[in-house]
Amino acid sequence: MSGADAYRPALHRFTLGQADVTTILDGAHIREPINPPFAMDKSESEIATIAQANNLPANGFENTYTPTVITVGGQTVLFDTGFGAMGRDNGAGNLVRRLGLGGYAPEDIDVVAFTHCHPDHIAGVMEGDKPTFPNARYAIGRREYDAWNDGSEIPEQRQQNRDMFLKLIPPLAQKMTFLEDGDAVVPGLTAEAAFGHSLGHMMYRLESDDKSLLVWGDVTNHYVFSLQFPESTVGFDDDKDMAIASRKRVLDMVATDRLLVSGHHMPFPSIGYVERHGESYRWTPASYQLRM
Ligand SMILES: [Zn+2]
Repeated sequence: MSGADAYRPALHRFTLGQADVTTILDGAHIREPINPPFAMDKSESEIATIAQANNLPANGFENTYTPTVITVGGQTVLFDTGFGAMGRDNGAGNLVRRLGLGGYAPEDIDVVAFTHCHPDHIAGVMEGDKPTFPNARYAIGRREYDAWNDGSEIPEQRQQNRDMFLKLIPPLAQKMTFLEDGDAVVPGLTAEAAFGHSLGHMMYRLESDDKSLLVWGDVTNHYVFSLQFPESTVGFDDDKDMAIASRKRVLDMVATDRLLVSGHHMPFPSIGYVERHGESYRWTPASYQLRM
């Protein structure tokens, strides 16, 4: 753990209807530059202007990784696993240790639901040669699984990622539910297609009493660059045009419906709202609304 992370909040827990929602910081990396991956249609000076207007450094960005745990109806579902052991010498892979801060043990996870199969979302599913969450079954989008398993549509830059997928995910297929758009993971938690960041990327919607939360995975990868410029090409997206279309659709929906969001790469605690701002959007971190 670096000094800067020593006193950083890493766990956030609240109730939503009958559900308990916990977000846990798996870790953070500083990446340079901003373009790529973000704002690939913008010049260096345009990016500097955007960064300054948002009180951000212009030379790089912090990439944080925040899995979400939801307990509803007696079932505990973990959304994405963080980096696991491969992140631990490099500022990530803290999910399992920090689960305990929220009162959970790895044995308490009933379902691991994947938004998609990039390393920060799947690598922590195994600990050595053992499943990290020994009592869990798994849920994944059918399209996502098939695309990685088949491999022919996976872009060249993701070949190492595909090797990781083949090592980690197909061996769990016996305990895996393959989801279509609209399928329930457990009662009250429903999968929604948002393809593009990966070929079969899924989001998950919690509904409890009259309250909702969208776990949107990687529909956006940065709270400023993705929301203010949803049409900019992003290097992280595997199907860049489809990712832009999904990003625009989901941001419009979330802003219109004032839907609470948990975003894997939004600033910790990664819980917030999206406000329309002309043709683009702004991220508004949730604060005391969720206590009232
Ligand atoms: Zn990610």
